[in-house]
Amino acid sequence: MPDAKKYVDQWLRDAHAMEKQAETILQGQIDRLEHYPELSERMKAHLKETESQRERLEACLERRGISTSGIKDASAQFTAMMQNLSGVFAGDEVVKALLASYAFESMEIASYRILSEAAAAEGDHETADLCKELCKEEEAMADWLKEHTHNITTAFLGRVESEDAVAKR
Ligand code: MG
Ligand code: FE
Repeated sequence: MPDAKKYVDQWLRDAHAMEKQAETILQGQIDRLEHYPELSERMKAHLKETESQRERLEACLERRGISTSGIKDASAQFTAMMQNLSGVFAGDEVVKALLASYAFESMEIASYRILSEAAAAEGDHETADLCKELCKEEEAMADWLKEHTHNITTAFLGRVESEDAVAKR
């Protein structure tokens, strides 16, 4: 499938840009989550994983003969949305970080599912397997966020309530 190859190349480039974006977003979030050590630790671990994902994608791009120089940023729109969600003025950064992270992981999961299907259709099973592996890592992160939504949200509300109580004294 010659057309499939063209799209797989393009989508691998997009995925590479997405991971670079993920590194920036995660770093920004980690720096602002000092009151939520569990979330910040998980994000630090995912940042390491994300760097390794970018490297594995670079090896894949190289194997397929795609140059990584001059890769344009395909997810600029997503960045804009993330910045709008930064919550700096609202004081609810942690909730915005949770929301933005869950949305980003969902986008990564969908991207790698599509890529693994397209690479398999093209007959590049090595790329298909890599994308399945990356998808599993994103799913693990999304599951962690889902499982910790209760704790993070109630911890945030608890902090707001105790800060209000102190302010009223
Ligand atoms: Mg990723
Ligand atoms: Fe991710």
